[in-house]
Amino acid sequence: MLNLSLDQLKNLMLQRGEKPYRAKQLFEALHQQWVTDFQQITCLSKELRDALSTEYEITALEIVRVKESSDGTRKYLIKTHDGHSIESVFIPNAATDGRNTLCISSQVGCAMGCTFCATAAMKLARNLTAAEIIGQVYAVNRDLRAMGWKNTAVILESEPSEDARLIHNLVYMGMGEPLHNYENVLQSIRLLCAQEGQNYSGRRITVSTSGIVKNILKLGEDTNVHIAISFNATTNSMRDEIMPVNKKWNLEELVEACRAFPLQTRRRITFEYVLLAGMNDTDEDAYRLIHWLSGIKCKINLIPFNPHPLSPYKRPELERVKAFQHILLQNHFAVFIRGTRGDDIDAACGMLGAQKLEEARIALN
Ligand code: SAH
Ligand code: SF4
Repeated sequence: MLNLSLDQLKNLMLQRGEKPYRAKQLFEALHQQWVTDFQQITCLSKELRDALSTEYEITALEIVRVKESSDGTRKYLIKTHDGHSIESVFIPNAATDGRNTLCISSQVGCAMGCTFCATAAMKLARNLTAAEIIGQVYAVNRDLRAMGWKNTAVILESEPSEDARLIHNLVYMGMGEPLHNYENVLQSIRLLCAQEGQNYSGRRITVSTSGIVKNILKLGEDTNVHIAISFNATTNSMRDEIMPVNKKWNLEELVEACRAFPLQTRRRITFEYVLLAGMNDTDEDAYRLIHWLSGIKCKINLIPFNPHPLSPYKRPELERVKAFQHILLQNHFAVFIRGTRGDDIDAACGMLGAQKLEEARIALN
């Protein structure tokens, strides 16, 4: 039932001979109070609750394990109703203003096969439904609420609705390729932004893609969320090697889509660039990156590779990372070196896929 929009719930209530405002009560209970059982919705009649309980399900995601990093990052291992495992990562005080971020998964595994990413080793088991995507947000909220989590974010007076939130920013940067599960991701964004639900603003949501070019513009037309592009290489031959998606949509096509992406005022596209020692981290790469991105309103996040046993690469020395950043800064790009929050619990970028990682570590020992 978590998949359905308020309008869909209204139709459902009408068909049952109920008043349409019952739909709003139901929607609020599901999307604001995060109920897990229809019987908890006591403003509905017992009869209606019983009927809903027999005919529908509230997609249940079960938190199986929570690992907490020394830096406060919390990785949630979550089970779907059919026994698949997914992961979500809660990053407290992720932004300088103390806002908290949740990194959510859009698929069980991933079909894209990037050679540096642990999730790729899982291959794609299946898409997550919209209910399972937002279900991660609600499950983590329930957990934080049960812990008595206190907000430390500095909220501007102009944003009173942000006050009550425990999770301020959402990033589709967990397991899976969001634009490879377009319809469900779109529905999840619509549900998260619904006024009668969590009422997220699009500027608090970022969808990251490896470059499914056919859906990049579509996302810009259908939503007003931020987009992040995992760029990661500056020649087609290198990108073909580390990101097979590049054989379908190459750098020229990717950059063309980025140039056409509808940006609201003061918005920028985020480009992520994983630095792999000796592969894509040379001065020449930095200069080629400048060439590709020139004229695009953007910021660049450099992510020094997070090593793991499913991938052969190495993280460059900090000096190399700084030199790469320096070239971009000199050419007036906004460039940030991304930290490795949660790397001690396999929660950093590219490390999601606990089972495969554990198997690989056992095999190595
Ligand atoms: N599938 C989407 C969303 C996942 S975002 C995408 O690829 O954009 C995950 C980010 O982590 C991507 O930018 C990816 O390039 C990066 N990443 C993957 N493996 C990594 C690793 N081992 N070290 C650092 N970053 C990694
Ligand atoms: Fe999939 Fe993104 Fe990992 Fe590539 S980096 S395998 S697209 S999750």
